[in-house]
Amino acid sequence: MKLTFTPYTLYFKRPFKIAHGTRTSTSIVIAQIEHEGIIGYGEASMPPYLGESHETVLSFLRNVKPIIENQKDPFDLESILSEIDLFASNNTAAKASIDIALNDLIGKLQNKPCWKIYGGDKINTPFTTYTIGIDEPEIIREKIVDANEYKILKVKLNGENDKLIIDTIRSVTNKPMAIDVNQGWKNKEDALEMIHWLLDKNVLFIEQALPKNNWDDAHWLFERSPLPLYADESIQRYSDIGKATDCFNGINIKLMKCTGMHEAFKMIKRARALKLKILIGCMSETSCAISAAAQLSPLTDHADLDGPLLIKNNLFDGITFTQGKITLNEMPGIGVVQKIDVV
Ligand code: MG
Repeated sequence: MKLTFTPYTLYFKRPFKIAHGTRTSTSIVIAQIEHEGIIGYGEASMPPYLGESHETVLSFLRNVKPIIENQKDPFDLESILSEIDLFASNNTAAKASIDIALNDLIGKLQNKPCWKIYGGDKINTPFTTYTIGIDEPEIIREKIVDANEYKILKVKLNGENDKLIIDTIRSVTNKPMAIDVNQGWKNKEDALEMIHWLLDKNVLFIEQALPKNNWDDAHWLFERSPLPLYADESIQRYSDIGKATDCFNGINIKLMKCTGMHEAFKMIKRARALKLKILIGCMSETSCAISAAAQLSPLTDHADLDGPLLIKNNLFDGITFTQGKITLNEMPGIGVVQKIDVV
């Protein structure tokens, strides 16, 4: 097998406000693994909070290149990925790019879409949410227009102008909302009060209300919240899931946090056994990583896979949305075609 990789910068359609300022672009790396003339594509997307950058991903991929290139059998996923995982403790996005490329390759070698390999039924895909980031009321109203064909909104809050944001949205639409606080509510009492205020506002669930390591307060809130609570930043990998059961009703699984499709699938099975709801989410990604995550979406309850809708320079054609419902194709692997020559 042969591994190649290329850094890219993705540009957002609209500036993206986060806790520490405004971003207009984000870093990704596209990985390709070739075997017997067939190419599998993968992607690493690096939001600043994961601690990865072009440099760290490229350096990790350079280091594990011999491991990949010495492999004779791409189907031996479990052993290849555990060797990659043991190479360094972090670098989850870089690891995900390898995992996605291998899954794509394996699907292509079998001429089968990954959603079939993982046992899903394409009828069962969820609707994706469409993200409404934190912004001024007039921009939020414009974003609601952008979201016109999507049935569920993902609304970002941070504890500052939350009621103004919700009132602005509710003045123009009554679509169901998933609320994502991104650890932004700093104390449990205020969080509970805000959840009660949201109770009659058609909210499906609240994601990562409190700081990620604040397990005692998460448990306190879980015992009192009248709305379901989901973990995002608190739960990264398979080994974290056990901690969720008495603090959250569900978890947000993202390929970039958990090292890819192989581990995400194991997390889905474990979460089901523990009666946790499952949201499959994304970072700012092209249709490559999004289509990879979408292959697992029939096995989940909710999806937040709007990454390609929010960027200008998507490098791939992949899965599509039909009035917001994830629509898987019959192409083998992760179901993507490269739009621009990325090598
Ligand atoms: Mg989140």
